[in-house]
Amino acid sequence: MRITVASGKGGTGKTTVATNLAIAVSEKFPVQFLDCDVEEPNAHIFLKPQIEDSRSVEKLLPEVDEELCTRCGECAKACEFNAIAIIGKKILVYNDLCHGCGLCKMVCPVGAISEHPHELGVIETGTAHGFSFSRGLLNVGEAMSTPIIHEMKGMIDPQKLAIIDAPPGTGCPTIAAIKDADVAILVTEPTPFGLHDLQAAVGVARSVEVPIFVVINRDGIGDDHVERYCEQENIPVAMKIPFSREIAKLYSRGTTLVDALPEWRERFQALYETVEGGAR
Ligand code: SF4
Ligand code: SF4
Repeated sequence: MRITVASGKGGTGKTTVATNLAIAVSEKFPVQFLDCDVEEPNAHIFLKPQIEDSRSVEKLLPEVDEELCTRCGECAKACEFNAIAIIGKKILVYNDLCHGCGLCKMVCPVGAISEHPHELGVIETGTAHGFSFSRGLLNVGEAMSTPIIHEMKGMIDPQKLAIIDAPPGTGCPTIAAIKDADVAILVTEPTPFGLHDLQAAVGVARSVEVPIFVVINRDGIGDDHVERYCEQENIPVAMKIPFSREIAKLYSRGTTLVDALPEWRERFQALYETVEGGAR
């Protein structure tokens, strides 16, 4: 089973839910935790993993031999991403736009295009709290994080319960993290911003037909509009985490709720049972 924990924006407590759920459930099942928030992974702050291995994630970038190139334009015509262009006598490859699909090389009639590997980031793997841990790290200045997320998801062991900490937002990296999940837990706050971002996240999860549960974090700081929205949309609110000074202090120290406050262990195990019952 794959559970993706996501949110429409950062700072809602998505990683709090993902890490506490992983620790609580690992008492009962083998767990694999994947921190796919590759631009700013922070699950390691709470899980304190032992990193044992690191490997590079690359894409193949085209390189044009200007001597062989006849400027026929076939490569630029074929590229869906406008990542290769002919400007006058110059032929330009835009690395940030290129998806490394290799089509330009295939269509070049004179074999002027070769490919060379370009590192996008790394995937680190290890163990935390006795379960498998991995995190993706996008290199500074790189724009394309989805290949790292796809590669991480390819590492999922079907014998384990995979808990995926998704990147915040509603863009391609979030979709990549939610797609193929059996269930998505969307974490939000009971505020107008929380509601707005939750609605966007619900749109993403529904577009890939993944069942949704909501967790309301910092319950008590705002109004009941999030709950009313969930009711209207038939989305179960599976847990509420109250706004409390004690919880905020634990968070600021990088301590998980389940480690500091034993009653939360059972609550997160109950959260798992609830979402498991609604998974596809
Ligand atoms: S590898 Fe694919 S995305 Fe990159 S320039 Fe060639 S056709 Fe475009
Ligand atoms: S398809 Fe090959 S020959 Fe034609 S413009 Fe592109 S690189 Fe040059």
